[in-house]
Formats: sequence, structure tokens, C-alpha cells
Amino acid sequence: MHTREGILEIIKELFESVPGNVISPELALEEKLAGLRIFDAPIAGFGSADDELFERYKDPKAIGPWFLTPREWFPEGNTVVSMFFPFTEEIRAGNRLQKDLPSGGWLHGRIEGQAWLTAFMKAFSERLSEDGTKSCVPLFDPRWQQVQAGKGIEGYDCINEKTFSSRWSERHAAFVCGLGTFGLSKGVITRKGMAGRFTSIIIPDRIEPDTRAYTGIYEWCVRCGACARRCPAEAITLEEGKDHNKCYAFQLKTGKLFYPRYGCGLCQTKVPCEARAPGLGQS
Ligand code: SF4
Ligand code: SF4
Repeated sequence: MHTREGILEIIKELFESVPGNVISPELALEEKLAGLRIFDAPIAGFGSADDELFERYKDPKAIGPWFLTPREWFPEGNTVVSMFFPFTEEIRAGNRLQKDLPSGGWLHGRIEGQAWLTAFMKAFSERLSEDGTKSCVPLFDPRWQQVQAGKGIEGYDCINEKTFSSRWSERHAAFVCGLGTFGLSKGVITRKGMAGRFTSIIIPDRIEPDTRAYTGIYEWCVRCGACARRCPAEAITLEEGKDHNKCYAFQLKTGKLFYPRYGCGLCQTKVPCEARAPGLGQS
């Protein structure tokens, strides 16, 4: 059995030992990017697999009936561990300078960073297996699926042209696990900001859930509108929030320009919630 401290120790060890959290000189899009670290040390939050919010996410006004609860992913699972890996200052600083397209460093963070995160999660679940503990990483499960109108899962009446969803949401899991609240740009604002990547694992150990330091879905967002002004695709407005399909179309465009990479993240950099939670009154 693992305690909270035991799980945090594993995360710390793996963060320091899994290779590849760096832009390799062979792949670097610009010489100055070679050798830059991609992620800072993560923060983690713990939530109960039985948290009633997971069931409420099946409501089409939240996510939709295709969303699978932690128990549906992994019946023996009792705790969800959600983690946020902030991008380093160097990765964020490059994107802060951009106005229309992502920086080279951000593209590396999005693609090579995600590849490292996948390696990290594989190492995490293998490490738990060595201790005799089965776990479930929804990202690796064949049931993980995107849900969009005309694509993905059919048969749900509530899917419409605005639907942009999946069977698991790292951001919604982060909300349950106390890591932060949503922002206008629909990313989750943590104490370390929004610019980074989320991941999660469901484990059988019963660990006391974190107390959420918020009640409102958007409590840590100050609705400053900076993310909307930064968005080159005009996908965010104060009135309507974010249009995921417009954002997706823009990301596809970057995929053509920067193949095999893609990304954007302009709404996550040069904004008050880049590396802190403005609604939490942090300085
Ligand atoms: S930039 Fe401002 S409005 Fe947008 S998510 Fe961050 S705090 Fe909220
Ligand atoms: S909403 Fe999408 S397109 Fe707009 S700035 Fe954010 S990532 Fe870029």
C-alpha cells in the first residue's frame, strides 16, 4: 500500500530520473533551444474515485454521458492522482514574445514534452507494478477517445457541432483533485499557473483527498480578458468563453506549418495566469 508521502516520493524520484525532459540538440528547431529543460517539478493533487463530481461530469452541460468515471476506468481504483507539470520559464518566455504563432520552444514543449510525460507515466505505472500495485492511466487505455460531431463516438443525442470532448478530462480531474479552477480560456489555473501539461493515474490505495480551496468553477480566473486578446484565432470571448473547434482549427493550421509539431498556447503566456493563480491573491 502507498501513502500520500510514498506517492509524492515516487513522483519526485521519477521527475529527476526519467530521461528526456530536455530539448535535445539533434531535434532543436533553433540552436539557442538546445539543452533547455522543458518542465519544472510537478505539483500533485489527490481525489477520491467516488467524488460525486465525476458522476456529475456525465451531464451534457459539464462533459457528457460518454465521460467515464474513475470506477468505470478501473473498478479497483480508489484514488485519482492528478499532476500538473509547469513549463519552465525558458519555454514560457519564448512564447510570451509571440503574437501570431507559437515559439519553437513551445512546439518542443507540446510535442517532445508530451512524449516525455508519456514516458514518465509509463515509468510511474511500472514502478507501482513492481510494488504489486495495479493502476490505470486513462491516457493509455484503449477506451480513451475524442468525441466531436461527426467523429469519435456516435449514438449520443447530445453531441452537436460545438462538442469537443473525450472520455476522460485531465483538466476536470485536476479540478476534482484540488489543483485549481478553470479559466476563461478553459485551461485549469493552478497555484503554478496554467502554462504546462496535466496528467493523471488511478490507483487502488485509499489516500485522503485534498480539500479543494475553491467552490466556483472559475474562481481563480479574474476575467481580465488577456487570453482573449492574445488568441490569434479569435477563439475566446468574455461573453462566450472558448470555442474549442476554432482553437482546434488553428492548431491544425500550425500542424501544417510546423509538421511534425503543432501547438499554440498564446492564451497561456503573457497573461496573469501564466505561472500563478490571480484569483487566489498571489503576488
Ligand atoms: S488570462 Fe485572465 S481571463 Fe484569461 S484565463 Fe487567465 S485570468 Fe482568466
Ligand atoms: S484558444 Fe487555442 S488558438 Fe487561441 S490562443 Fe489559446 S491555444 Fe491558441
